[in-house]
Amino acid sequence: MVRTIRPLVLALCLVGATPAAADFVLNNLRVTLYHELAHALIDQLRLPVFGPEESAADSFALVFADRVHDEPTNRALIRDLVRLGRAEAAEEYFDPWREYMPGAQRTARSICIWYGLDPGARGELARALGMPREVTRVCAEAGGAAKRAWSAVLDTALPAEGAEITLRPAATGKALRLLKADIAAVNARVALPHPTPLTVEDCGQDNAYYYNFDDRMVICSEMVGVLRARAAAP
Ligand SMILES: [Zn+2]
Repeated sequence: MVRTIRPLVLALCLVGATPAAADFVLNNLRVTLYHELAHALIDQLRLPVFGPEESAADSFALVFADRVHDEPTNRALIRDLVRLGRAEAAEEYFDPWREYMPGAQRTARSICIWYGLDPGARGELARALGMPREVTRVCAEAGGAAKRAWSAVLDTALPAEGAEITLRPAATGKALRLLKADIAAVNARVALPHPTPLTVEDCGQDNAYYYNFDDRMVICSEMVGVLRARAAAP
């Protein structure tokens, strides 16, 4: 399923990207990978979903990141996700039939859930990113609910000792090279019921997909170039 529809931006080949730009690219690729992993889990485990699946997948990405990355990485991740989300929201048109919340709301919800995953430690940054004090309690509850829901799934999806990996990356693709450690982290913590190929393909747009008819995941080759261009934008 489509992670998001972004306007197609010319991919820029930036030589000598700064560490901050490299982190921006990697963090947004991570969120994309984890979001698509949620679709795979929902499909292959036949999970009941109460509410829009895209919102559930967004929440999963933050819950999973919270499990596998340290706090400095999670802080960088939400900053980079918010920066990208707001840049995209500024360019989108409102379509009430899209599967996703409007971009600005989707970004706000991400801050809300991220905060609620660790309210004791994340209030200052969440407020710096725009979260109003009035929603503090609601977001703490929303983050806690997302954590309980997805932790119940993740606790039962642990791979057996010595089991073969189930998310199987192709040998080539820039996004997969950048995500190598993250893909390994997924495979260490999640056993999908079916072997699930993960490939990079030319799609003609900046996007990522999980195809539930044949259990495979695709990151579009355009994504890295578009993220690099976004990282370089003022
Ligand atoms: Zn999606």
